[in-house]
Amino acid sequence: MPAADPTADHSVPPHRPGSNSLSRGFGLLGDEWSLFLLRLALLGRSKYSEFRAQLPISHAVLTNRLDTLVREGLIEKRMYSERPPRSEYVLTERGRSTWPILTSIWGWELAWVSHHSYETPPMHHRACGKDFAPVLTCGHCRQPVTARDLRAAWGPTGGWRESVPETTTRRRSGSRGTAVDHSFYPDTMAVFGNRWSSALVGAAFLRVHRFTDFQTLLGVPPGLLADRLSALCERGILEQVRTATRPDWAEYRLTEKGLAVFPVIATTIEWSERWVGSPDGPAIEIKHPACGSAFHGVLVCDQCGETLTGAQIELGSVPSAAGTTPES
Ligand SMILES: [Zn+2]
Ligand SMILES: [Zn+2]
Repeated sequence: MPAADPTADHSVPPHRPGSNSLSRGFGLLGDEWSLFLLRLALLGRSKYSEFRAQLPISHAVLTNRLDTLVREGLIEKRMYSERPPRSEYVLTERGRSTWPILTSIWGWELAWVSHHSYETPPMHHRACGKDFAPVLTCGHCRQPVTARDLRAAWGPTGGWRESVPETTTRRRSGSRGTAVDHSFYPDTMAVFGNRWSSALVGAAFLRVHRFTDFQTLLGVPPGLLADRLSALCERGILEQVRTATRPDWAEYRLTEKGLAVFPVIATTIEWSERWVGSPDGPAIEIKHPACGSAFHGVLVCDQCGETLTGAQIELGSVPSAAGTTPES
């Protein structure tokens, strides 16, 4: 994305221990089952039994994810003293505000991933009555934007290592720490489902391209880095490019498919700054030079051009997990 970007000289900002909005937001949302639960809740599901019927995960995993979402304030658990006692999981405003992220993920899956092992219905815009794709625009000038149109710089709480997503959900012991191996949406999870992968994709948008730069800036162990980079290349999100000046060096560049992930990143950054941001200021500041404004992303419908709202989006049908086997 950037030109006046934080990587201009690849200098590492002063070390600031702890996390920032990016590490918290991407850490929290970069989990397949949490995203599924939010999607089901956005579609109106609220009962434990409904979540259980829709997701092929164990009681323990489902309870763990619901507890995390309740603890982080995205979902509220309401108890009713009836006979038999009844409880409901209801989205808070913080939870409801994830709809642009879920919509962007869905739009990217529909546009860029040809084979789905899981039912992936189109999104329907109630306002215009058409199936649509979301388009990211600048909230100030209303022009469509891509990463190439924007410039980013670290804010007061920014920094490479501070922005690496933290681990929010405990993984099952013995798991390999990633949902990619048994995933309904392996492409999304290749980008989003692992703390290092989303850090690498984020850094690639910030124009980090070399193995050694990923390694030193983010502090990724080299073996893990090699694994993650090759997984991102296998999914067609990054590609290796030989450089003209040093033909023995390969650089990692975002492909068109990788660049198209940008609305997911932009909406997640915006959600993170708003809901899990630091009082000391933003982690990253994004500008739209064409209009000179601070960038605030707005999703519009590609069919009617109107601004989307979460309440006006429907899916063709709610997917059912029946007959599928993956588990977390
Ligand atoms: Zn603008
Ligand atoms: Zn529309």
